[in-house]
Amino acid sequence: MFRNFKLVPKIIFGRGCFSQLDDIIEEKRENSKSWVVFVIDDVFKGKSLEKRIPLHDRDMLLWVNVDDEPKTKYVDQLTCDVKAYHSTLPSAIIGIGGGSSMDLAKAVSLMLTNEGSSTLYQGWDLIKTPAIYHIAVPTLSGTGAEVSRTAVLTGPEKKLGLNSDYTVYDQIILDPELTKSVPKDQHFYTGMDCYIHCIESLQGTFLNEFSKSYGEKSLDLCREVFIDDHPDKADKLMMASFFGGMSIAYSQVGACHALSYGLSYVLGTHHGIGCCIVFDYLSEFYLNGVKEFREMMEKCQIELPRGLCKNLADDQIEKMVTVALGLDPLWENCLGKDWKNIMTPDKAKSLFLKM
Ligand code: NAD
Ligand code: ZN
Repeated sequence: MFRNFKLVPKIIFGRGCFSQLDDIIEEKRENSKSWVVFVIDDVFKGKSLEKRIPLHDRDMLLWVNVDDEPKTKYVDQLTCDVKAYHSTLPSAIIGIGGGSSMDLAKAVSLMLTNEGSSTLYQGWDLIKTPAIYHIAVPTLSGTGAEVSRTAVLTGPEKKLGLNSDYTVYDQIILDPELTKSVPKDQHFYTGMDCYIHCIESLQGTFLNEFSKSYGEKSLDLCREVFIDDHPDKADKLMMASFFGGMSIAYSQVGACHALSYGLSYVLGTHHGIGCCIVFDYLSEFYLNGVKEFREMMEKCQIELPRGLCKNLADDQIEKMVTVALGLDPLWENCLGKDWKNIMTPDKAKSLFLKM
């Protein structure tokens, strides 16, 4: 069966296009009671972006904190806060920030129309009712969360996204100027998330011409950003993120993402840096990719943390292995149908112990 895959229907791109946000929302304001919610990363509190938010009288400004990556409990609490703000549902949710804030906004837009806790919907196509109209404004490029059909959440039992066609954003606003304030290390980590999406997609057994076309373009853009230090790198990385997301949407990620999920589940390591830590040890699977990654790391003067797993208890390592090896499609994409004979629990453990 071929996947019938939903795309973001409306996209605006260009430096400064954030200024059009009010006009874009306007068509959703049907009457004088209509209101919208701006879900925004609290890193922008007191910054110039805060003053540019087109807030109308009845609108809600919902600051979110992403020191920890999104949790189901946090999504449930934010959903309650929105429901309590007015007696009617909002007409639109606008997520402003990196992958974490975009995923929180996606999740809240879904949970406003679907009963119960978000933990009930962690999985594939469990969402039954369309979400509130949702708009993303990325301020950090790389994850591809702006185009994906998932909102990644950590719950009490698992780290698994709300995967559904309803999760996909209705509108995205790609304004590269908004990424200017991203700290250098974070720019690299989240940018490498995109680079690794491309490598894993392009070297995967699930590859097809659709994913290849997007993946190759995204990889070229990553090279212009991280090797050539191109003057238009903000624009380029924003498009690389979008194309990288399109590439994996129709194929899959691989070994690095599977192992990084283990790391993140046990140690709370954030996605971008976690992928970098893992990728550095995967030369035997992605030889040229790792070589180029190291070149990029040197150019950008990035030092990765080492020895994370050295002093972990056995049960913590076991948990990491279980989480990582539970992601069958990622391994099948990387190593083929026979993957279980290659990536044994002992092999996964030995990789973690090096990190
Ligand atoms: P992030 O959203 O967690 O943000 C990282 C840091 O950068 C935070 O401190 C944030 O406040 C800061 N930041 C963001 N924009 C900034 C700006 N313009 N200026 C200054 N600081 C800024 O990082 P991320 O790497 O974009 O996202 C990671 C999250 O995305 C993880 O939760 C991961 O699970 C998720 N993810 C989702 C998908 C998907 O398809 N839905 C794909 C990959 C990753
Ligand atoms: Zn990723």
